[in-house]
Amino acid sequence: MSDALPVTQLLYNEEQRLAIESFRKFAEAQLRPLSDKYEKLGHPPDRSTMLTLFKQLDQYGLISGLIAAEDGGPGIDRFTYGLLYEELARVWPDMAIAVLIQSHVVLTLSALGSPELKQNYLEPVLRGERIGCSCISEPNVGSNVREVQTRAAREGDQYRLRGQKLWISNGAQSDFAIVVCQVEGGLNMLIVDRGEDNYRHRELEKMGFVGASTCEMFFDDAVAPVSNLLGRQGGGLFQTLKLFETARVFVGLTSVGVAQAALEESIAYAQQRQQHGKVIAAHQMIQNYIAEMATEVDAARLLCHRALQLLDQRIRCDTQTSMAKWYATEMAVRVASKAIQIHGGVGITKDFRVERHFRNARVLPIPDGTTEIQKLIIGRNILGVSAFS
Ligand SMILES: Cc1cc2nc3c(=O)[nH]c(=O)nc-3n(C[C@H](O)[C@H](O)[C@H](O)COP(=O)(O)OP(=O)(O)OC[C@H]3O[C@@H](n4cnc5c(N)ncnc54)[C@H](O)[C@@H]3O)c2cc1C
Repeated sequence: MSDALPVTQLLYNEEQRLAIESFRKFAEAQLRPLSDKYEKLGHPPDRSTMLTLFKQLDQYGLISGLIAAEDGGPGIDRFTYGLLYEELARVWPDMAIAVLIQSHVVLTLSALGSPELKQNYLEPVLRGERIGCSCISEPNVGSNVREVQTRAAREGDQYRLRGQKLWISNGAQSDFAIVVCQVEGGLNMLIVDRGEDNYRHRELEKMGFVGASTCEMFFDDAVAPVSNLLGRQGGGLFQTLKLFETARVFVGLTSVGVAQAALEESIAYAQQRQQHGKVIAAHQMIQNYIAEMATEVDAARLLCHRALQLLDQRIRCDTQTSMAKWYATEMAVRVASKAIQIHGGVGITKDFRVERHFRNARVLPIPDGTTEIQKLIIGRNILGVSAFS
């Protein structure tokens, strides 16, 4: 860890600093080797490894921590959770994305599930026995969530589901899917079990996050009991947009983690690489890069922290979550690019981690609402007129 962060950390309370310190030790010792291993392998961990990792990560509250105390959960505030999440993203961003999905599946089930659904899905997830995924996007539906085409038709006491989903994180390891679909003329969330062969997946090959599962999912006549409907009939769009609000900040924090890692590696490299008779850290233009990178990482971090604090206080903050998401994700692309520049030729080889950070950073302005969509939300909220349609 470099000296790029300690002043900000002085603002955290004692409990938060201890939590970060303890999690950082675990992440460096246990997760970093796995992060490097799966990056080299070029595929995500299998289901049973993921379940073991989720259990370990939940000792720090990273899976169940956000369940409110009044719902029987640990009730960790989003800000404190976010501090640990950034640490995870700094060491293993692929796992951070997997955790983001699993913890949001937990949040969704906890907030919207009936007692029966909590018993059948939430409790096994909390016991570390099952993995869920969240299916919204489709081949023809990305930014236009309202236009979901996957349909569930009622047949007696079950639904029959037809449709295709795309870009589904944790799809390969999932035991069940929360599917946003059209049900009786409205958008709903329906829980669908994988069972023997109720749905299928195909892993996508991506430029970054190669250690995270991102799948195409096929629901060809998949069935689910009527009681697997989550939340109120027709409430699927509102529920999805609400979840996006929180998830967006964590995509922002994933970017902060990636950028922080790129910054730390650039500082270490600049302090040891000699050119023109001195370390490159002593050249003014390298100092300029480092100063810009450190400032931008911090600015993005602060935008994310503010959004988390607003979410903790249940203050409507879709403007601020969108600001945090677009700024942090685009920041990481700039910072990771400069990190490669500071490394010179070796920066584009797989011998140095900055090459991976650059590929990972470039992915993040896309999920959970692209940069363009975040700006349209901010513009609409400021100007009072929507440019979406
Ligand atoms: C790594 C990764 C993980 C993901 N995980 C999940 C997941 O778990 N579950 C899930 O459901 N989805 C997931 N997604 C999907 C993600 O949310 C979508 O990719 C995203 O919403 C964008 O949709 P699209 O890719 O179809 O792009 P499109 O919507 O086709 O957009 C293409 C381009 O057009 C622009 N555009 C679209 N509409 C407008 C407009 N009105 N005005 C101006 N510009 C516009 C976009 O900004 C973009 O630049 C994931 C994606 C990635 C990359």
